[in-house]
Amino acid sequence: MASNDVARLIEADHKCLWHPFTQMKEWLNEPPLIIAAGEGSYLIDVYGRRYLDGVSSLWVNLHGHKRKEIDEAVKAQIDKISHSTLLGLANVPSIELAKALIEVAPAGLTRVFFSDNGSTAVEIGLKIAFQYWRNLQGQGSRKTRFVSFFNAYHGDTLGAVSVGGIDVFHSIYKPLLFETFKVEYPHCYRCSHGSTYPECKMACSNALETVLRCYADEIAAVIIEPLVQCAGGILTAPPGFLSVVADRCKEHRVLLIADEVAVGFGRTGTMFACEQEGVRPDIIALAKGITAGYLPLAATLVTEEIFNAFLADYAEMKTFFHGHSYTGNALGCAAGLASLEIFKRDRTLEHLAIKIRHLEDRLRSFRDLGHVGDVRQKGFIAGIELVEDKATKKMYPVERRMGHTVIMAARRKGLILRPLGDVIVLMPPLSISIEELDQLLDITYASIIEVTDT
Ligand SMILES: *Cc1c(COP(=O)(O)O)cnc(C)c1O
Repeated sequence: MASNDVARLIEADHKCLWHPFTQMKEWLNEPPLIIAAGEGSYLIDVYGRRYLDGVSSLWVNLHGHKRKEIDEAVKAQIDKISHSTLLGLANVPSIELAKALIEVAPAGLTRVFFSDNGSTAVEIGLKIAFQYWRNLQGQGSRKTRFVSFFNAYHGDTLGAVSVGGIDVFHSIYKPLLFETFKVEYPHCYRCSHGSTYPECKMACSNALETVLRCYADEIAAVIIEPLVQCAGGILTAPPGFLSVVADRCKEHRVLLIADEVAVGFGRTGTMFACEQEGVRPDIIALAKGITAGYLPLAATLVTEEIFNAFLADYAEMKTFFHGHSYTGNALGCAAGLASLEIFKRDRTLEHLAIKIRHLEDRLRSFRDLGHVGDVRQKGFIAGIELVEDKATKKMYPVERRMGHTVIMAARRKGLILRPLGDVIVLMPPLSISIEELDQLLDITYASIIEVTDT
């Protein structure tokens, strides 16, 4: 692109746009990197410079950019129709994708409710759980409350924020939120019990047990990010934690909502995170990877038992009165179907297992760096936590912007990352090659040294 065209774009961005999760005062200080194209694991800017996409365009891309099969599926769908409503009508790709999702989802999930982003998939899960008990027990049902985890992230709409637990994002909206029981999620690096796994016997799971024992008859559901709290800082739960949570929910007759918006679709090494501990949630929320990073689409899957509680004569008012304009969008569903076909044909998860081991091997060397406090990995998700003092685990002062400084160094070397505070997040597309993965890790390593060794 000619440089005066780029200049016009930069000016318009600075004049017209408000970027998400961005301090715009800082943003307006420097020209933005503008992406114009993509190819495989690379993003290409308006000058034609190539950057490795180290976070899968914010955790959504699976099979690479401009992936032929998905491009063709979406184009073929455009030639038929791009969108028609699911309110009072059905459409071809949403029926086919619903069927395909049920085939790959954890056992017992048999009904698919579509929406268009992770936050709405979560809202729908919460509303269905709430109404399930109403439909079952009547207006007087006391099962109206939710249990969520400290440090959780379930999206940015108000219901999703209510079950969230990240103070910097969420505390300002407190007057607008409904209250939940907040319990502990494992945080092994900064264990609040001053213990280590497995000697700790997962003392962190006791908080949930206590709340359920005292209040189960007031609780509709527990909502959890299975295996990893991603936005909370890539906090990986020790093996067994998820299944303990699921067992407690069953014991106390409380629904389990699994938010697999981030961890779903292969990211942890299995199609869904719940599989790794044989957990069968009552409700699952899916988004991000559902279209392999192509289009905004989401789905909330529920069990037949939950679905049945909504069946009644119309006048009984047990209908789920919820829907979005773009529910079941045909282009999104076509992309989703093409993605699931790639999983099968390319044996994506088999190839991924090798890359996950390679990532694990190579991450070991990061632990020796002077300012790397912790390295956490679950499958193809990794977080490298930078600290000012390794011995005391003292964090850097916020104003040092260490995570940000490291990713800007990486950018100069041709790698796009997005940190969570001082945690450097690595979440490349599942399709990345070993050579590209090595390049990603080399640049990350060099950038951490460059920024922290001064
Ligand atoms: C990203 C995310 C969401 C929200 O999804 P959006 O599409 O951004 O609304 C919800 N839950 C988890 C676990 C996420 O990572």
